[in-house]
Amino acid sequence: MSAAGAGRDRESGSSPKEAEARPGPRPVGFGVEELAEVKKMERLHCSGRQVPSPMGGFLMDLGVRQEPDGTSTILFECKTSALRYQLPLRISTWRERRKVRVQADEGLDPLCPRGELGPPLVRRGKDFFCPRCNIMFGRVP
Ligand SMILES: [Zn+2]
Repeated sequence: MSAAGAGRDRESGSSPKEAEARPGPRPVGFGVEELAEVKKMERLHCSGRQVPSPMGGFLMDLGVRQEPDGTSTILFECKTSALRYQLPLRISTWRERRKVRVQADEGLDPLCPRGELGPPLVRRGKDFFCPRCNIMFGRVP
């Protein structure tokens, strides 16, 4: 499913199309249907809970893909129908990052602001990452 590298060194060249007011890289995803209610699904996923399938039952988490624009996409498979779905996640907001920074400043291990109680963020280099949603929530102070 990977479209082999189309055109090399010309990412943000001169594209006269104003597609969606957002230049630069876009999420690649997995090319499957997107789940509805992204925020709710994201909260369940980051909380370590079961994510419901549109076909009934629950979804199984197959993996996460780091997108070129700093977001991530999670791939799920329905446990009953084996249909696959993707959940595109947003980049962290200023508010989420501040929440994380406040916890870090207090000497706590910051938790993913998208889950109900965690998971604890992990340090990857100088950044805080959530091991579940793979979103970066700011710099380690
Ligand atoms: Zn998370």
